[in-house]
Order: sequence, then structure tokens, then C-alpha cells
Amino acid sequence: MLAGIPILHKGDRMGSHRTEHDRENCIGCGACAAVCPKYWTMAADGKSTLIGASKRDSDGWEVLDFPDEDYASMKQSADVCPVNVIHIVKKDTGEKII
Ligand code: SF4
Repeated sequence: MLAGIPILHKGDRMGSHRTEHDRENCIGCGACAAVCPKYWTMAADGKSTLIGASKRDSDGWEVLDFPDEDYASMKQSADVCPVNVIHIVKKDTGEKII
């Protein structure tokens, strides 16, 4: 490693946590998009969309791995959801943070 420059290992770029969004049960309050507009936007159907996410085949939820540097803002978006349809999962253990 060069002095002061950390080596980026495979996987680091996408961070250690994943966001999972039960979009079907979103009530469209807009809170997630208000606190974390980098990752959330309100769609034409009135529900929020997790920007850059893919749709999981098994349940249709939106899922997105995100960089660790965005953990605080992503966690905040989950914390403000009044119907608890945003979840943060630790990728290596599967632990559900929220
Ligand atoms: S905070 Fe929850 S209910 Fe509100 S728009 Fe976002 S996902 Fe939907």
C-alpha cells in the first residue's frame, strides 16, 4: 500500500450493507426521499423508488448494495419510514439492522 492510500479490495466499493424496500407496501409519504434524495425518489404511481436498485425475483422487493460512506443517510431514510418498509441488512451475516 502506498503511504496513506488504502487498497480497495473487491467488494469494498459496494459496502457492507444492503437496502431492501418492500415497495408494494409503501404508502407514498415521501419521508425517505426528503431525508435521502441521493437514493430515493417519488415515482408517478405515488410510491418511492430506490434509485439504482434491482427487483428481487422472490418477493418483488427493490434491493441495493450501497457504499459504507452513505450508511448514515440510508439508515436515516429507513428510520423515518412510518410503515417500516425500508430495511438495512448486513451483507456478511444477514443481520437486519432495521
Ligand atoms: S418513507 Fe416509507 S412509506 Fe414513505 S415514501 Fe418512503 S418507503 Fe414509502
